[in-house]
Amino acid sequence: MEEKDTSLSSSPPLAAQLPPSADDDIGSSNNYDYVCYRCSKPDPTLACAACKVARYCSKECQKRDWSCKNGGGYHKLNCPFMKSLTREGKIDEAEKRNVVNTVVRKCKLYLSPFFVYNVIQASKASAGSDSDADTPTAGYFVFLQSPDTIIMHGMPGQGRRDHLGPTLPSRSGSRQVMLKFMKYEETKELVKDDFELSSLLPSLLASVSPGERQEKIPLLVRFRCGFVGVADAEIALGWDTCERLGWEGNDEVLFNIDDV
Ligand SMILES: [Zn+2]
Ligand SMILES: [Zn+2]
Repeated sequence: MEEKDTSLSSSPPLAAQLPPSADDDIGSSNNYDYVCYRCSKPDPTLACAACKVARYCSKECQKRDWSCKNGGGYHKLNCPFMKSLTREGKIDEAEKRNVVNTVVRKCKLYLSPFFVYNVIQASKASAGSDSDADTPTAGYFVFLQSPDTIIMHGMPGQGRRDHLGPTLPSRSGSRQVMLKFMKYEETKELVKDDFELSSLLPSLLASVSPGERQEKIPLLVRFRCGFVGVADAEIALGWDTCERLGWEGNDEVLFNIDDV
């Protein structure tokens, strides 16, 4: 075993001195200007020796970023994840799936009453007009989007930064998710000029069922990094309970996933 689990040690792995103009495998293909992961000072000269991703201006900053105490940067938790990223160059599909499933699970308390309420509203509306009655692909789904990357959502602590260097140093610690209730027939407009999204429509259609009471919530997901996919979620607490709970709002909601 050449890989030592550094996540359990209480002091950070020795910082490695970077050459004056760091041009390594992480930075060379991207135009990221590195800044200290702790204080955002530009051109940090040290890197975390374990993951070689996190950069620091000083050992003091590295120490504080490693800490999981209040005010710390939680790098101790994020480091193994960042390390796997540099090893693989990217996260593999299975790991992305895991992150997506975790995000969906965290959304459940919003997702279920939100979906049930909107299906009922939409069914009422279409019952009132006869124009929708013969739509062959009637059915509803939720479009789940996040302005944050899969990697940020995969961080075990607070996903405060992009792993490729904090390009947005003043960014707050929140990870946001937006839910939008949609009819399947609206996808035509949605996927226009988007080959990746349109290639997902067959599998989305397979999980979208017409009519009111649904077994599961079909989801189309998209993250800031460009990841798109189809997923589904159980209706938490069941349809009837969600119907009784109701929903204060409309067919779109934005929330901070770390508050859920
Ligand atoms: Zn610093
Ligand atoms: Zn590290």
